Amino acid sequence: MSKADLNNYIGGEWTCSGTQGYCDVENPSTGQAVARVPLSSPEEAEQAVAAAKAAFPEWSATPVSRRCDFLFKLTDLLRGKAEELARLISEENGKSLPDSRAEVKRALENAEVACGMPLHQQGDKLINGAAGIDGEVLRLPVGVFGMIAPFNFPLMVPFWFFPYALATGNTYVIKPSEQAPCSMQRVAEMIEECGFPPGVFNLVHGDRVAAERLLEHRDVQGISFVGTSRVCRTVAVRSAETNKRCQALGSAKNHLVVMPDAKIDPVIRNMISSCYGCAGQRCMASSAIICVGDEVCQTVTDAFLKASRGVRVASPLDPEVASESMLMGPVISAKAKRFILDMIQVGVDEGATLALDGRGLEVEGCQGGHFIGPTVFTDVKPGMKIHQTEIFGPVVVILKVATLDEAIQVINDHQYGNGASIYTQNGHYAREFKLRTRVGMVGVNVGIPAPVASLPFGGMKDSIFADVKAQGKAVVQFFTEPKVITERYWPED
Ligand code: NAD
Repeated sequence: MSKADLNNYIGGEWTCSGTQGYCDVENPSTGQAVARVPLSSPEEAEQAVAAAKAAFPEWSATPVSRRCDFLFKLTDLLRGKAEELARLISEENGKSLPDSRAEVKRALENAEVACGMPLHQQGDKLINGAAGIDGEVLRLPVGVFGMIAPFNFPLMVPFWFFPYALATGNTYVIKPSEQAPCSMQRVAEMIEECGFPPGVFNLVHGDRVAAERLLEHRDVQGISFVGTSRVCRTVAVRSAETNKRCQALGSAKNHLVVMPDAKIDPVIRNMISSCYGCAGQRCMASSAIICVGDEVCQTVTDAFLKASRGVRVASPLDPEVASESMLMGPVISAKAKRFILDMIQVGVDEGATLALDGRGLEVEGCQGGHFIGPTVFTDVKPGMKIHQTEIFGPVVVILKVATLDEAIQVINDHQYGNGASIYTQNGHYAREFKLRTRVGMVGVNVGIPAPVASLPFGGMKDSIFADVKAQGKAVVQFFTEPKVITERYWPED
């Protein structure tokens, strides 16, 4: 992408913003600007909400099958432009091309699931709930919904929500991450090409200023937020103040438990991809390994360190590495890199052993890039900050416990509960783990237990501030009002 100024898409028009200035969108591999994103004002966020509100009556009255026709067109376009979108994501976010392609695929799958809305939006009917009285539940669209997106899955995360919102008859305003806004701008262009009526889908670029206006706006009926738990808390409080529906998905520290009977070779390959994919910046990335027993701890530590040293770190758009499956790119920004380096120093200061040090890594031809190599701490104890904090980079901590019960306790005591996995061939261990861990998404011999698009996505504890999770059938509840009708008819005289 050439260094272009991005625009807002409001009421079917591309509007030139920049009233509050612009900020550069960097390619994190080089540190160079690839675009400028406008920092929209609260008034521009209001214009988007007004456009969405004006579009709601007609869109909500459009038959559901007709609404889905537009989404079918969008899935066709996404399929045709998948490679272009993947490259945009790799450029703005720094993840490898295979990771970006997987992101586009999961976005597409969500749009496909939303195309099934004529089935998902069906209500219920109870005949003779009382004598001669029937009860009926209608699933009706609600109004204008908003979404505030994170940088780490700049394209896929919005698809957890907006296709479902549109298919159920609501209208939408999205504010992409200011750090990685280019791929969603491209999606907005595709939405225009599909012929969605003006105002049904609106895009407002910017930072927290525009986001906060969406949060406090009385005409926004609900907010889907994905980002850090610190901001989730604010989003939840501010949504409650204006009586909005709110789903806020937050930070994580995902654990991988290795039992003594685990199949070590595939487990190590699986852990490497879970810990270092997207440079550790997936909300489902694992960053804490718990080994159960001395022997397995020694074996896993040695093998994991060896495999970590073999991870290739490079710019994802370097043609030489484009098809490499286990490639690690940079972290998103200089600020993120500084935080991760600080956390590595914290680990050293609090007495963990820095068994592999990714600091000081240089990638040839990418001097301005924000690279950190795979970093591993051993001798880590649960109370340490490097275990308590979401570091969101390629930094892995290894802990040792004596029993599965202890491993489950470590996970359950942690503030975050997004995902966790167990490696074992033993059905009893797996069953205990599935039932007793306080996390929202569990893997058994699967290092990234991210559910497919038709199943709910979301964690527990401080990883989520919501009752309704993302994607699939679950999110249909968020976007519809279950209006209940109680009716009777007396016989004719
Ligand atoms: P972030 O919280 O810094 O920003 C997310 C969005 O919130 C951005 O669009 C930003 O402009 C906006 N924002 C920032 N401050 C705000 C405020 N005070 N009010 C309203 N909006 C505000 O998060 P990030 O760094 O972009 O994303 C990484 C985080 O997202 C990690 O913690 C990661 O675990 C989390 N995440 C969670 C999931 C999940 O499913 N739980 C999925 C993806 C990412």
